[in-house]
Amino acid sequence: MTVSRILKDKGSAVISVTGEQTVEVVCGLLSGNRIGAVVVLDAGGELCGIFTERDVVNALAREGTDAFSRPVSTYMTRDVETVGRDATVASVMARMTAGRFRHMPVVKHQRLVGVVSIGDVVKNKIEKAEREAAEIRAYIASA
Ligand code: AMP
Repeated sequence: MTVSRILKDKGSAVISVTGEQTVEVVCGLLSGNRIGAVVVLDAGGELCGIFTERDVVNALAREGTDAFSRPVSTYMTRDVETVGRDATVASVMARMTAGRFRHMPVVKHQRLVGVVSIGDVVKNKIEKAEREAAEIRAYIASA
């Protein structure tokens, strides 16, 4: 099972911001879109960071509510790990676990084509387990 299967189900919409946007504005986007992360693009549309709800918590812990008026570039992670559509879901899970993060931008020819979250990965795993259980039940019933 590959990342492309997840994107087929959830679509390839990506909520992106620029680094100059304030933490307050980006919190509004996270809340309004019911997502945990935005990708940050530079002026040329290239991926230059990722900013997640964890970064909001860290920013508030460090600087209190002053953080809200600062640009997300202050707090985003610049060294973003990405994945291709052909990567297996298992490999994405392994990388999220090793890196201790829950979001993975998906790129094709260095362009963003989606974001996979840990929630998407878990949903995919549950569906796979349910399919396999149904297959076993059908096999037993037909035996
Ligand atoms: P998360 O668990 O996704 O909320 O992120 C935890 C921390 O890892 C935050 O500081 C994020 O900015 C960072 N992070 C999230 N996704 C990635 C990624 N794909 N590559 C590198 N860092 C990430």
